[in-house]
Amino acid sequence: MPRTAALEMDPERFRELGYRTVDRIAEFLKGLRERPVTPGESPAEVRAHLGNGALPERGAAPEELLEEAWRLLAGHSLLNGHPRFLGYVTSSAAPLGALADLAAAAVNPNVGGWTLAPMASEIEAQTVRWIAEFLGYPPFCGGLLVSGGNMANFVGFLAARRAKAEWDIRAEGAGCRRMTVYASSETHTWVQKAADLSGLGTQSIRWIPADRDFRMDLSELRRAIEADRAAGHLPFLVVGSAGTVSTGAVDPLPALAEIAQEHGLWFHVDGAYGAPAAALPDAGEDLRGLRYADSLAVDPHKWFYAPLEAGCTLVRDARRLQETFDYSPAYYHFDGEEEEQRLNYYALGPQNSRGFRALKVWLGLRAAGREGLARMIGDDIRLSRLLHREVQKREELEALTQGLSITTFRYVPRGVDRTDPAAAAWLNELNEQLLNRIQAGGEAFLSNAVIEGKFALRACVVNFRTEQADIQALPEIVTRLGRETEAALAATSAVERPAPPTAG
Ligand SMILES: *Cc1c(COP(=O)(O)O)cnc(C)c1O
Repeated sequence: MPRTAALEMDPERFRELGYRTVDRIAEFLKGLRERPVTPGESPAEVRAHLGNGALPERGAAPEELLEEAWRLLAGHSLLNGHPRFLGYVTSSAAPLGALADLAAAAVNPNVGGWTLAPMASEIEAQTVRWIAEFLGYPPFCGGLLVSGGNMANFVGFLAARRAKAEWDIRAEGAGCRRMTVYASSETHTWVQKAADLSGLGTQSIRWIPADRDFRMDLSELRRAIEADRAAGHLPFLVVGSAGTVSTGAVDPLPALAEIAQEHGLWFHVDGAYGAPAAALPDAGEDLRGLRYADSLAVDPHKWFYAPLEAGCTLVRDARRLQETFDYSPAYYHFDGEEEEQRLNYYALGPQNSRGFRALKVWLGLRAAGREGLARMIGDDIRLSRLLHREVQKREELEALTQGLSITTFRYVPRGVDRTDPAAAAWLNELNEQLLNRIQAGGEAFLSNAVIEGKFALRACVVNFRTEQADIQALPEIVTRLGRETEAALAATSAVERPAPPTAG
């Protein structure tokens, strides 16, 4: 009797269910704009939709399951592909990427070892090379895809730690001597996780102050390195940001590279968000300076518009990854032509078994081409600058910053003096509650930043569906919800609205 397996599916049935699923997705994409960005439900409401049944003893028919899963997901999700989704650094995902993930999952190559994934390994290598080319990074670098920006930065961090430790840190651990990292106060929190998980500890991070434009202060950096040297520590890593997560600020990367080189430190650039903007014709020299990095993190699931998850680490000297992660004897890889040419990604990063993330990125790069990609990124930046100008025109909005495709601003009601220290706490409270109202309302989605102590609304355009009209609608939405929030706050808050400035 032939075996029956609960999860096997007849190909004809797969075809039918697949078509149905694709039909649902196509309708979903067609109707995106008409829907709220988020249903704004509470955790209790979402859980109630899901139910809390026990693991079923018996299986069920896949068509009903697929239909139900789709209903749950499509009806109760935040839609980051919506034209008015402008929160965090989360891009709209290329629909092509969804098809790519389906194909990748169907063939299911294990891109940990070349033998297990011959073509997928080669496609990943080509993807990495194209990303480097696009960014202006030396194309003969090493690199690999990882889950996202945090991991991409972590891989760079570990490569730096391995390269700069003056002992066998992989065997002996980090205990010998304090190794110190230099990062601006605007750096994303990945650096804390990396310092922690690598065993160096967060106390090895030297937070270098940023200047008025949120860029690392170079003299403070020099001073900190020299002080650590004098104290007998081992400075090993300078981290620059190519687009900070709060305001899109770009550190003076060429100057950071020079300081790192002068002191014999590794130079890592966090370009998770902003690196792709280096490809634009009008990119500044500071941003283009990412080409001097010993390692560079970039996030294809951000400004390459790939669906989650896809991060990428590039390393100038390709051998560094193997030196950091490989546990097979060195001769294994260089023992003859054949082996040398086999790309075994398990030896180049933290993962062992690896999925085929590269396909959606590779297809996206090919479908858009350098020109199409640069145009989407450039349009996002132009829309962000437009928002900044529109906000400046509004009496009740205060524009705070504009960098790359991030604009920050806040709501300041008429009659409130935005410079009055007595108004500061009240304005922060007001804008925080306003953000909650915006996020729950579903008309548009923003996130927040804190700019010199001010709670700010933050719009980050990494969204090829956002139109000029969406941007122009924002100031009106924010002002209207701002007035509502103010009224609600007056009714409930312990913090009082500051008195209007008195004449004289
Ligand atoms: C998003 C981001 C990260 C983290 O990337 P994930 O993909 O969320 O892990 C790190 N640094 C910067 C500057 C970012 O914008």
